[in-house]
Amino acid sequence: MNVKYDLVIVGAGPAGLMAASAAVKEGLKIAILERKKEISKIHRSCGGVLNINEDTFGEVVHFDQGTGDLKFVNSGTTIRYDGPYQDLFGFCLYAPGGGRIEFGDFAELKKDPEKNRLGIALKKGRLIQIMLDEIIAAGVELFPNTNVVSVRKEQAGVVMECEDKRTFTGTFVIAADGINSRLARVMGMNKEREFYGTTRDTSIEIKGCACPASEGFLFMTTKKSIFSMIPLAEEGYYHVYASTFRRDEKPVEMLDYFLKEDPPFSQWYRDSEIIEQERTACVVTLMSPIKKPFKDNVLFVGDACWRREMSNVGSMNSGWKAGKCIAAALSSSNENEEGIPEYLDWYDKYYFIPWGVRKQGGRNFNEYLTYEDIDYLVGLCKDKLPPTLDIIKAVNFIGEYYGELMTQIYEERPDTMDRMMVFRENMEPDLEKRLKWGFKLV
Ligand SMILES: Cc1cc2nc3c(=O)[nH]c(=O)nc-3n(C[C@H](O)[C@H](O)[C@H](O)COP(=O)(O)OP(=O)(O)OC[C@H]3O[C@@H](n4cnc5c(N)ncnc54)[C@H](O)[C@@H]3O)c2cc1C
Repeated sequence: MNVKYDLVIVGAGPAGLMAASAAVKEGLKIAILERKKEISKIHRSCGGVLNINEDTFGEVVHFDQGTGDLKFVNSGTTIRYDGPYQDLFGFCLYAPGGGRIEFGDFAELKKDPEKNRLGIALKKGRLIQIMLDEIIAAGVELFPNTNVVSVRKEQAGVVMECEDKRTFTGTFVIAADGINSRLARVMGMNKEREFYGTTRDTSIEIKGCACPASEGFLFMTTKKSIFSMIPLAEEGYYHVYASTFRRDEKPVEMLDYFLKEDPPFSQWYRDSEIIEQERTACVVTLMSPIKKPFKDNVLFVGDACWRREMSNVGSMNSGWKAGKCIAAALSSSNENEEGIPEYLDWYDKYYFIPWGVRKQGGRNFNEYLTYEDIDYLVGLCKDKLPPTLDIIKAVNFIGEYYGELMTQIYEERPDTMDRMMVFRENMEPDLEKRLKWGFKLV
């Protein structure tokens, strides 16, 4: 029997679960369809960091370390997290010679973590399980091992067909199926999106690392690539990442090189233990975001409509808003686009207008600058930059800081300056290369 739901949510990641949590509190009949069998098992690379105390797409989350409460200030909801966590205080960029630019004085900030933390690295699987338990207890029907392959609008509602031929019908659907969204593709939403390339990422967990300042989101520049590392929820454990746009590079081999051979950084990992069973990977399609994330009563949230990964907090925030707006549409019997203007206006204000029209970056400056250039440039930064875990803010802080140093760089290192100019001028050719290496999802 094909049961009709008020709302069918596709995808039980942070965005879909938050949408379910918001909508079930308003009394909606909800099904959530998820292709994974074991929903709280994380296969896809994610650092598991939640941004705290810093605005993320119009939402701020506070963490009460006494109770474990994650308070979403603007949506007004709270999740009680009971797993391990570690504090993060900002970004940190390491040059090949070991010099670094810190966004915030970690040693000082960690004296008052409640006030100064900008993120917590938590067990994402545990967070997902807590959210799942809550929505199931509230009456949401969960269908794991359910891969949605097509969607169509009929008189009776929006019908989703699954790989095993089961169908589900909802008055509204929330597409929360992540960055390479099948729903976006089959509904033709990608046709008008600009394509910026495809990355392939891999990550491992390690135990033990001799990094001098590890309480941040770290980027390490090497001759081969830029690698990153984030502390995990348990003390002394870390995620290390490799990522590439190129087809001729293999992220697993790149990571192996970084950990075992790279001249300065492999020293950090001499006594590290790789936790083999915790390897994760992912493919990320970079596109311009969907301009209007609604079609035929399907509302897109989280990474499914975004330009790249929106972040856990960003996705949860959009899921929450979507769940609330659909409940409002149903209670006012506006079962169409007229019912959800609040979501569309809010998406425009916090997501599309500030970030949506930006071209995607992701260029490797180490393809242009030498080791010595990077060491020299990093060495020029004598101050701690303002603490942040917001990548756009971090780029702006660097731009402002180095903007003041341009004359000095030109006088001291004209060759470095020339290479910096070539880097700046090659934006378009670099994009062309990325497009050739990538796979557009249409
Ligand atoms: C390398 C890497 C590191 C990251 N680290 C961080 C970090 O530390 N902090 C942070 O905030 N963000 C991080 N992110 C981003 C973060 O993981 C995402 O923004 C977030 O998970 C998006 O949530 P979502 O619910 O929109 O999508 P997802 O988490 O991708 O969830 C989508 C769900 O939909 C399911 N699904 C997909 N297709 C179907 C289908 N056809 N039928 C049924 N179900 C389907 C999937 O199985 C999945 O469970 C990282 C991303 C990457 C790539």
